[in-house]
Amino acid sequence: MRKNSPRATLFNRRGFLTGVGATLLQGALIQPALSRFASAHNLGGYPFTLGVASGDPLPDGIVLWTRLAPDPLRGGGMPHHSITVQWQIATDERMKKIVQRGATLAVPELGHSVHVEVHGLKPSRWYWYRFKVGNEESPIGRTRTAPRRGAYVDNLRFAFVSCQQFAEGYYPALRRLSEEDLDFAIHLGDYIYETTPRPGVRTHLPDDAEIFTIEDYRIRHAQYKSDPALQAVHAAFPWLVTWDDHEVENDYAGFIPQDPADQPIFAERRASAYQAYYEHMPLRAAQLPNGPFLQLYRRLAFGDLMQVNVLDTRQYRSHGVAPSNCELTERIDGYCPSALDVTRTILGEQQRDWLIDGLGHSTASWNLLANQVNFAPTDTNADPAIRTLGGEKWDGYPFDRQEVLNFIAARELWNTIVITGDVHLNRVRNVPPDYKNLDAEPIATEFVCTSISSEGDRILSTVFGGNVNNPHQRFQDNHHGYVRCVLTPQLWRSDYRVVPTVLTQDAPISTLASFVVEQGQAGGQLG
Ligand code: FE
Ligand code: CA
Repeated sequence: MRKNSPRATLFNRRGFLTGVGATLLQGALIQPALSRFASAHNLGGYPFTLGVASGDPLPDGIVLWTRLAPDPLRGGGMPHHSITVQWQIATDERMKKIVQRGATLAVPELGHSVHVEVHGLKPSRWYWYRFKVGNEESPIGRTRTAPRRGAYVDNLRFAFVSCQQFAEGYYPALRRLSEEDLDFAIHLGDYIYETTPRPGVRTHLPDDAEIFTIEDYRIRHAQYKSDPALQAVHAAFPWLVTWDDHEVENDYAGFIPQDPADQPIFAERRASAYQAYYEHMPLRAAQLPNGPFLQLYRRLAFGDLMQVNVLDTRQYRSHGVAPSNCELTERIDGYCPSALDVTRTILGEQQRDWLIDGLGHSTASWNLLANQVNFAPTDTNADPAIRTLGGEKWDGYPFDRQEVLNFIAARELWNTIVITGDVHLNRVRNVPPDYKNLDAEPIATEFVCTSISSEGDRILSTVFGGNVNNPHQRFQDNHHGYVRCVLTPQLWRSDYRVVPTVLTQDAPISTLASFVVEQGQAGGQLG
């Protein structure tokens, strides 16, 4: 890179994007004159080994993604200069009717990832797209724009997933998901795992070890993306993605790592992890990382049928686990007094205000919170006479949750649906108005999806209905799979789609249970 090039100011000494850089980058990316052209021949191999993806649909646009990596499992194998990448988008699967084309730069500072924001498309339409470098063409991906803003939409179909530990199981659930007839899909986090895995079906790169550096996070993401089923789900429809903890480190909270010994390096580790995440996801320039910060919470709309609030419950957390170092006699409705501190936050004040503002202005039939960790309370004390609440889910942040619940109750937003990952269990929970009365009339509905592969095969257990400790629970199960949602203005249906095993690449899918929510009445009913 030339010293006086505007892009020289995009990155600080450690190679992280700076704030100014983030705003300049979009401009720099549309100046292909700055690049040196490279043919696929001198890239040393096929560059589209990680597939293609699209995401964050708008009524008139979509973001298209790929990353050039002829040697994906050893850092990418790209030269240390920028490469021009051509893109095309068409209205047919054979790419005959191209409606737009363009060129962009894949820069080494962003791992030669490519994020193209296409504008000027038509609402509620399927499109197909591909990339080209020299004579090499990427696979063709399919994507779909969102409905026109505010338009009446009679139905939507989407699925949500979480927790795809690569080493602990194969992805038969993703293979089956790629064959579903859906408008889009949502990933709720644990897209990769930074940890060393439980014994499973594959080993983790690099070195089957815990990862810390940008180079390592890139290799780990590339290894996950090398799976053909994961590539297939991205090529099949657009995705809305958010993260949980394992994209960085298990159970981290804000700038607090799980392991105190990692504290001195944690800000840099988080910056590396956030950047690698951006490099591998179909995210817009609004999500460009800025050192250890990345604005991931955002709102999308699907006509007047659904507003989607994509949450980030990791980046702005005040503390990790709620204080639990008190006597049972000191507990107030299950909580240690200090856990009730009003400064404890899982969303951060800004995101909480943003969420409440969005819910307040929504005119959609359904309001969705695309969320990471369990939202409804969980009494973890097996003694029916004693309640214990806390931990590092929403339960650990009772003040934040109550602010959201009070708003839902005040505005009677019984059409609020929370979708959740993280626990590697399927769950349906009726969300009570507060943690004190778990069997009160619900004011929202929570659907939790199991893991795609994490924890591998387990002894199967499926339980319908609640129990004496958690009467608001309707369902719990530990198959692997995903949740498919079909919604109309009147009815929301969640289908729990499961595979019998993750020890093979290919397995059949079936619907274990379906739950419906009727418009105007919170709570899931077996349907
Ligand atoms: Fe997980
Ligand atoms: Ca109990």
